[in-house]
Amino acid sequence: KKITIAIDGFSSTGKSTIAKQLAKELGYIYVDTGAMYRAVTLYVMRHLFVTETNFDEEAILRHLPFINLRFVFDEKLGYGEIYLNKENVEKEIRLMEVSNNVSKVATVSKVREMLVQQQQEMGKDKGVVMDGRDIGTVVFPDADLKLFMTASTQTRAERRYKELCERGENVAYEDVLKNVKERDYMDSTREDSPLIMAKDAIEIDNSDLTLEEQSQKIMELAKE
Ligand code: C5P
Repeated sequence: KKITIAIDGFSSTGKSTIAKQLAKELGYIYVDTGAMYRAVTLYVMRHLFVTETNFDEEAILRHLPFINLRFVFDEKLGYGEIYLNKENVEKEIRLMEVSNNVSKVATVSKVREMLVQQQQEMGKDKGVVMDGRDIGTVVFPDADLKLFMTASTQTRAERRYKELCERGENVAYEDVLKNVKERDYMDSTREDSPLIMAKDAIEIDNSDLTLEEQSQKIMELAKE
């Protein structure tokens, strides 16, 4: 029997790594909801005037109908990459500039409404692993397995810094740490759907777990 797996948690807690692995082993679809918020943010940054203090919500709302998001499955990768209006933006959405603006765009209720609806559609047939901030609470409150990933701020900033360096981005560790903290703050204080752990979620602190220990633990849970 196919199930729905919801994985939530703060940024850089290793959600996507574990979600991709689970999806692969179970033959499920993987949906990276953060990529959807990032792609909307990229669109907004390209077409509208956005700075950290200036933010035109009206203009975003007018543009929403022109933002088309899709995941296109890649055989080699084993999961889907995100397309924004026919363009593969998988790389561009991970840039620091996008990370700096995404949590603000994610506070716009109409943006959340649109994306939540698309996510529910993508997962309606079960057999899905979805990661994000509100999957177990808002998108799929009836998910069969809910995980909530945590790790210390330091661990997460170090991971993100390493990832960005590996991708060739020229960033300072201090800025990455600042971004992780700011997103934590915005994600947890968002008015209509703050990042909280669902009551029936299982918390996994992976600061001190290796990827193998972690995935073994979670595979056991998924098979129960
Ligand atoms: O998961 P990732 O770090 O790529 O997500 C980027 C941002 O998108 C988060 O910091 C959060 O502001 C927003 N997000 C959200 N709800 C989700 C997934 C992501 O608000 N389900």
